[in-house]
Amino acid sequence: MGAYALFAQAQDLGYYLPQDITYNPSIPKPKDIIFHEVGEWHVTHDRLVNYMRAMATAAPDRVKLETMGFTYESRPQVLLIITSKKNHDNLESIRQQHVQLTDPTKSSSLNVDNMPIVVWIGHSIHGNEQSGTNASLLSAYYLAAAQGKQIDDLLDNVVILFDPSFNPDGMQRFSTWVNQHKSKNLVTDVNSREFSEVWPGGRFNHYWFDLNRDWLPAVHVESQNRLKWFHHWKPNILTDHHEQGSNATFFFQPGVPSRVNPLTPSQNQELTAKLGKFHAQYLDRIGSLYFTKENYDDFYYGKGSTYPDVNGAIGILFEQASSRGHAQQTANGILKFPATIKNQFVTALSTLEGARVLRKDFLNWQRDFYKTAISEANGSAIKGYIIGGKDDLTKTSVFVEMLRRHQIEVYELANNLSTDNGSFEKGTAFVVPANQPQYRLIHGIFDKTLAYKDSLFYDITAWTMPLAFGMPYAELNATKFSSSLLGNKVETITNPKGQLLGGKSDYAYLFEWDELLAPKALFELQDAGVLVKVATNKFEIETSNGAKKFDYGTISIPVNLQRTDSDKLFELVKTVAEKNGLTFYSVKSGNAISGSDLGSSRMPVVTKPSVAMLVGTGVNATDAGEIWHLLDQRMNIPSTHLEQATFNRVDMDKYNTLIMVGGGYGDLNKDKLRAWVQGGGVLIVTEEAVQWAAQNGISTVNFKRAKTPVDSTRKLSYVDREQIEGAQQVSGAIFGAEADLTHPLAYGYNQKNISLFKANRVFMEKSKNPYATPFYYGKDPLQSGWVSKENADAIKNSAAVIVNTVGSGRVINIADNPNFRAFWLGGTKLFMNAIFFGRTIDAGSARGDE
Ligand SMILES: [Zn+2]
Repeated sequence: MGAYALFAQAQDLGYYLPQDITYNPSIPKPKDIIFHEVGEWHVTHDRLVNYMRAMATAAPDRVKLETMGFTYESRPQVLLIITSKKNHDNLESIRQQHVQLTDPTKSSSLNVDNMPIVVWIGHSIHGNEQSGTNASLLSAYYLAAAQGKQIDDLLDNVVILFDPSFNPDGMQRFSTWVNQHKSKNLVTDVNSREFSEVWPGGRFNHYWFDLNRDWLPAVHVESQNRLKWFHHWKPNILTDHHEQGSNATFFFQPGVPSRVNPLTPSQNQELTAKLGKFHAQYLDRIGSLYFTKENYDDFYYGKGSTYPDVNGAIGILFEQASSRGHAQQTANGILKFPATIKNQFVTALSTLEGARVLRKDFLNWQRDFYKTAISEANGSAIKGYIIGGKDDLTKTSVFVEMLRRHQIEVYELANNLSTDNGSFEKGTAFVVPANQPQYRLIHGIFDKTLAYKDSLFYDITAWTMPLAFGMPYAELNATKFSSSLLGNKVETITNPKGQLLGGKSDYAYLFEWDELLAPKALFELQDAGVLVKVATNKFEIETSNGAKKFDYGTISIPVNLQRTDSDKLFELVKTVAEKNGLTFYSVKSGNAISGSDLGSSRMPVVTKPSVAMLVGTGVNATDAGEIWHLLDQRMNIPSTHLEQATFNRVDMDKYNTLIMVGGGYGDLNKDKLRAWVQGGGVLIVTEEAVQWAAQNGISTVNFKRAKTPVDSTRKLSYVDREQIEGAQQVSGAIFGAEADLTHPLAYGYNQKNISLFKANRVFMEKSKNPYATPFYYGKDPLQSGWVSKENADAIKNSAAVIVNTVGSGRVINIADNPNFRAFWLGGTKLFMNAIFFGRTIDAGSARGDE
């Protein structure tokens, strides 16, 4: 089909709004503030915020504006609180009473007869799904301006927490794109540039993360700011307005019944279905097609429509077919942006009406949810969890902070405890009792899951957090758990204090590599021009605190080799230790009691990494974003982001480390890449980039193939194909790899079994060189999650990491994603080791397989 011109005509408010209602003329209409009709252009974030402010100014009796916080790009995350004047006058007492429904020690005596319900209306967490946010202009106007008994009833009975944009940075990127490509005569041809955003697109936040996977890990500022308000108010319903493929219609939950997380009680889905009747009725009224109980699920608690389900609320996913621009030709005819906005607006209204009518059902459900959490906890064999170890205090603190964001009660360990899973020490470990209101979410965070009702998943199948963090932890049963284990309750998170033991040295300083921020400290020293060495052997040496054993990967800073004087070095070392939560040791002699002396050739100099990463069209944006976030936010290490064409053009000698994540690299100059590695570069490839590098003669890796499950002689039903083939996806599960703790890529690990996250079908054969596979999967590696038998067989005895020597360079092949969604801190050390120590890996240990 050729270009199709559609005469552009702006829809005024009459197209969207209920007609049988009068509106307060003193309330500005969207066009008065944003200068265009709703749906005529994509509203930008600045104008959106201006409109929300205007509502709070014009209708102060109904609308209050709060700023939850700011995004990475310093955009405000605004929240309107909309309710009747009467409720606004008592807002804090309404809130306090409401939140008591989630406290089983207080909730029994509460009378819900006259209690308002709390509903969070949330829009467009995916920045390129903008019908939701644009509908928020209409909903805000309607709620501020509508007059009459119907709106009065609604506002008397409902406190609305109104979040016009879940992802302001992504929204701004996308609106800029589609607006700059809009023609006066709307072009509906899908081939037109308007419908194909440049990489990475507006779906993601600043660091190219999907914020609709971050409600549980809460790595990002947007999620952290939002969760504070979520738990401040504990809404009963939360809506999550999205868009789906352009040829679809409209989806609302409930989703696929067999794909609900088993920790979510069945009443949740019953209430979701009751609310669904209102959406159906409202969509029928405007003639819109829709579907339910298909495609989408409620399994992973990191999504906005699922997180509320494990917090006594009901999350509702809406998915509108996307016009992706201003109007697009689809299987269902021309889909115009205003039509998509209208469906989102109407289902916001149906949600509010359902909430008003079913108010007591939802309030009682919230109370029951938390009461039954306590009774289930009492009946459970697991009475609590213990977490944390002395080797990585910062990581432990990040974990505890994550628990606290979800209002999970955590206590310092009061007495040392030994368990089947190791010993835990007072001062470095924490206890999470199971008997508390967040009992179900605690299970959602700690459980290993291996039994499933269905084999299709919209997202990952497991996320067991202590495994992801790579932290010591243990379940405590009734014999192990007692309240005497509970020390101080954790109220505020304090980062571990670093220190330099022994004061100034004229010989050397040492620090160990175990802590999360050791690479950050190392880079800070290197960036200041300090020469550092790494111990490739163990040793014991006299420190100011007596004799101490140091492990592989210990960093040594010899004082005499520095260009700077010893006083300045002392100040720098002390600052770096304190800032990064590390313990540095001052030593006066390089003579080891056992193992290598500090002047040994087994203490090579560590070259300062100069890092580049290939990004742009074809590259998996979230995988690349995870690395950008890790280096920039956690480690303060700059990385240059190169497009393939830029790589082909520029002098690569200024970089000694190049990162490639999964993606298509068809435009890359392979000869140049090979020559760069041969000349001494360290190439780090992850996931599908491992296959690309091998297929293009850059590396030498052989692959295993998973068997196909379908026997061609067997007759299968057409209708079962999706289920059978979908089951062969590796949606994401946790596997334990065996590590060679003497290998540079394993420095800083103390446990032999490292949990890694696999969401691909890259299965590497172990290298023939016995030293070149420092991480590999054994006979039974699955720790948590779902994977088909065929894929499980392929993973067994496969390699997780292979190192190749290529000329003077190295290729480090990592089959899985060590940085998954920035909460996989158990993989951070592996990845940072590749960056810092890749070039120290002995050439002979990684040669072979050619
Ligand atoms: Zn979406």
